[in-house]
Amino acid sequence: MTYFADLTPYTYLERHDEDGHGASDELLLNVGWLDASHPFPTGASPDELMPALMNLATVRVRQTRGYHYCEICILDMGDDAMEAIRQGTIARESAEFEVRGEGFVYAAPQLLLHYLAAHEYLPPAEFCTAALGATS
Ligand SMILES: [Zn+2]
Repeated sequence: MTYFADLTPYTYLERHDEDGHGASDELLLNVGWLDASHPFPTGASPDELMPALMNLATVRVRQTRGYHYCEICILDMGDDAMEAIRQGTIARESAEFEVRGEGFVYAAPQLLLHYLAAHEYLPPAEFCTAALGATS
């Protein structure tokens, strides 16, 4: 998958102009674009975060044709990874979801839920706050 540092302006797919603004002129920020070669923050997230994100992630945006696979799982599996990909047992996704924050919209891959559940990824605090606020 393509790596982007958390909270950098979103530039991956369309729906942005040269300044990284979305169609609604809100700045799109990357969250959760992990790969196996960049360290990422880990830690315990609030209990309410996962259900809130699962709810937000039901709105799939920017669906792509191919799959993004979890590079961290692939690295962990080593020589067995290709077989696991063939069998469909490596976590994979093909869309993004958005979380509305204060003056920003966070653009996250659907795989963020897997990173949180399987790899203890801890998203930026403002993203967590926005996600939790969106459900109340
Ligand atoms: Zn994984």
